[in-house]
Amino acid sequence: MSDTTDDQAGDQTDDPQAPPTETPDKGGMKTPASLVLVNTGHGKGKSTAAFGTVLRAVALGWPVAVVQFLKSGDWRVGEEKICRDLGVSWYAAGDGFTWDSEDLDESRATARAAWELAAGLIAAGDHRLVVLDEISYAMTWEWIDTGAVAAAISGRPERVNIILTGRDMPAQIVDVADTVTEMVKIKHAFDAGLVAKKGIDY
Ligand code: ATP
Ligand code: MG
Repeated sequence: MSDTTDDQAGDQTDDPQAPPTETPDKGGMKTPASLVLVNTGHGKGKSTAAFGTVLRAVALGWPVAVVQFLKSGDWRVGEEKICRDLGVSWYAAGDGFTWDSEDLDESRATARAAWELAAGLIAAGDHRLVVLDEISYAMTWEWIDTGAVAAAISGRPERVNIILTGRDMPAQIVDVADTVTEMVKIKHAFDAGLVAKKGIDY
C-alpha cells in the first residue's frame, strides 16, 4: 500500500466514519417479483431476523406461512402465539421432533413430512412469504434431499418469497438464494453458562 490515496475532498464514500451524502444510483435496477433469503451462520439471530421479516409481510397484508423443521410445538411459544394471532399459517414439525430425538427414523420421517408440506405450500403459491425455519439441518443430515429443495425454490411461483434458516446451509441452497446472511458469533451468553432466556431467546 502506498501513502498516496485516491480519496478526493468531497468523496466520502471510502470513509467509514462519514455519512453518505448522495443517494445510491439505482439506474438499471429491477423490482424483483420475489426473493429467496438465507439466514445462516453460528451466531444468534437467524430465526429472529426471519420473524422480523414476517412482521413486514403481515403489515402488507400478505398471507404468510412458517414451517418449523426442528423445534417441537411447545418450544417457540412467543413467536408462534403472536404469529398465529396475526393470521400466520404456522406448522411445527411436531411430536417430539427435537435436537435430541432418540428415534432417528421418526425424526427423518417427520422432517420429510415437514418438507412435503412446505413444498406443497410453495407450489400452491397462496402465501406470499414462506419461512422454512431450521431447514438446513434436515438437509445436512440427509433427511430431505437438498437438490429437491433447491429445485422447489428455483421453480417457485414468481410472487412467493422464501426465507430459509439454520446453520451450515448447503451450498446448493446458497447458490439459488438472492440474499445470504451469515450470523457470526462474536460472543454468546450460552458459552458463559447463561441458559436461554424467555422473551429474548424464545
Ligand atoms: P434466534 O432464534 O435467537 O434468532 P438462531 O435462530 O440464530 O437464534 P438457532 O441455532 O436456531 O439460532 O438456536 C436457537 C436457540 O439457540 C436460541 O435460543 C438462540 O438464542 C440459541 N443460540 C443461537 N446461537 C447460539 C450459539 N452460538 N450458541 C448457543 N446458543 C445459541
Ligand atoms: Mg433458529
